[in-house]
Amino acid sequence: MLGVCPRSVNRTMPWNPIIKSRRDWETIPNLHDYESVRKDFSWEQARAELDGLPDGQGLNIAHEAVVRHATGPLGQQTAIRWLGKSGQVEDYSYARLDDLTNRFATTLQGLGVVKGDRVFVLAGRIPELYITALGTLKHRALFCPLFSAFGPEPIRARLTIGQAKVLVTTESLYQRKVAGIRETLPHLEHVLLIGEERRPTAIPGTQNFHQLLEQHPGIYRIGPTDPEDAALLHFTSGTTGTPKGALHVHGAVVAHHITGKLALDFHPADIFWCTADPGWVTGTSYGIIAPLTNGLTCIVDEADFDAERWYGILQDHRVSVWYTAPTAIRMMMKVGVDLVRKYDLRQLRFLASVGEPLNPEAVVWGEKAFGRPFHDNWWQTETGGIMIANYAAMDVRPGSMGRPLPGIEAGIVKKTESGGVEVLNEPDVQGELALRPGWPSMFRGYWNEPERYKQCFAGGWYLTGDVAKKDADGYFWFVGRADDVIKTSGHLIGPFEVESVLIEHKAVAEAAVIGKPDPVAMEIVKAFVSLKDGHEPSDALRRELLGFARARLGAAVAPKEIAFLPTLPKTRSGKIMRRLLKARELGLPEGDTSTLEG
Ligand code: ATP
Ligand code: MG
Repeated sequence: MLGVCPRSVNRTMPWNPIIKSRRDWETIPNLHDYESVRKDFSWEQARAELDGLPDGQGLNIAHEAVVRHATGPLGQQTAIRWLGKSGQVEDYSYARLDDLTNRFATTLQGLGVVKGDRVFVLAGRIPELYITALGTLKHRALFCPLFSAFGPEPIRARLTIGQAKVLVTTESLYQRKVAGIRETLPHLEHVLLIGEERRPTAIPGTQNFHQLLEQHPGIYRIGPTDPEDAALLHFTSGTTGTPKGALHVHGAVVAHHITGKLALDFHPADIFWCTADPGWVTGTSYGIIAPLTNGLTCIVDEADFDAERWYGILQDHRVSVWYTAPTAIRMMMKVGVDLVRKYDLRQLRFLASVGEPLNPEAVVWGEKAFGRPFHDNWWQTETGGIMIANYAAMDVRPGSMGRPLPGIEAGIVKKTESGGVEVLNEPDVQGELALRPGWPSMFRGYWNEPERYKQCFAGGWYLTGDVAKKDADGYFWFVGRADDVIKTSGHLIGPFEVESVLIEHKAVAEAAVIGKPDPVAMEIVKAFVSLKDGHEPSDALRRELLGFARARLGAAVAPKEIAFLPTLPKTRSGKIMRRLLKARELGLPEGDTSTLEG
């Protein structure tokens, strides 16, 4: 059953479209008048779209995502449609999800887990992961997801940092990755195993996840939850160094909910697919919380990227809103448009991307392949939710991250010697992207690293570590990570601009640009490129690419050197690791590679 208006949708809110018919209700973009909504927006008003716990007992993410729908008209609607690797399809209605997550919450209670204890999960995208996440949130313990492809050492490091009390994992992941390090984890009291094919397991020192769920009642009353109570511990991608554990609170749900609506244009009848793994923040904020608080149906695909499989999912499950990442888009571009044209994707209404800069070429390709552009948006693990976006009701500016969400003040700043910041108000001036603290999904700390947290703030701003520009119309343009920006012959070059030009060349699949130390220029621009199928590295192609880039960028900005690589090093969340290319180029230690794609 699809398309029931959730009880909680307050149609009078200024960001909701003015509707005259059911079709309008399903498709007219939210945030139709950016300026006026932005002017009048308040977080209290956004909070009013949510229910809150009964009897004024506070605000709990799982209540907003599951309980209030399960007990209302959406009870029998599919909340999660799970697509297994081998073709299985399982639907979980809101009511069923409520029952299963109650069982998990009572299981935690039975195990002596209390508010604030850390419950980690190490699993692929399987239903049990979603049950664990929402059951943990109901019980007011901290949900801490790990990416299932991590090896034993990154797993040990994160479980130790977070002092995990409970770990939910699968039998095979446990045997391959955890059994060998178990005795180094004195805080880990309970390991709950999901047996292969959900068979009972018999591994000493573990308990069976499904048996526990069967033994525990499906009735659970969420305890009082202060919006400031800790809810999620998310590790960053480790693109720039050792991953940090960013702590988020239950009140973040206000931002998850409203950004889903405003930036991803959620409408009540939407079928939404977020391709990110919950091991990364996108897969939790938008792969679990935001679509469920908005009462949508979420697609969860267990398998990894495969262009044909993905287009099949979009078509067969009638996905209307799709949230993915530049790395996947570039892989689809590599395959070409002929394949996608074989599918009927008319129901796909809104496409969005996050995680890395989205090259203008990729936006244009979206138009060609899907008849709709990808809408780039920007945020970080630390911000908990989308902060800057291209919106459904506005034309996309290819290459731009868009404009700040209502309720978010973003600026371009420069640190001063006195430890404050100077705001750079002139348009098109490069500086550090900064945000005024105070939105609900703002991180509340780096786990056990108060100093590192403190260093993120200056002069009343949160400093993001990214360099960007703002144009005269208020659109933000990503330049590069502060550590990746290249200083050459007295000016600053953002790698993104150079990479975007290189991938316009027909032979180039992906590009990464670094600054290579140079005695004269300080740094020179060096590019690493991987080629599309059917193209081979050669000196002739190298010269062609150098000339191609010079003609478009000018000699000062174009790369001076180009190296070919079969693939570029990336994090497991799909981000190009420029720091690794640089370390390798300079023969320096590679640093923390725990999140490097294997
Ligand atoms: P670490 O902080 O450990 O180095 P990370 O910054 O990659 O890892 P995440 O929080 O997952 O960890 O990623 C956020 C970063 O990703 C942003 O700070 C930005 O550099 C990049 N990013 C995300 N979305 C965009 C976007 N739309 N355009 C450009 N960059 C983006
Ligand atoms: Mg970061």
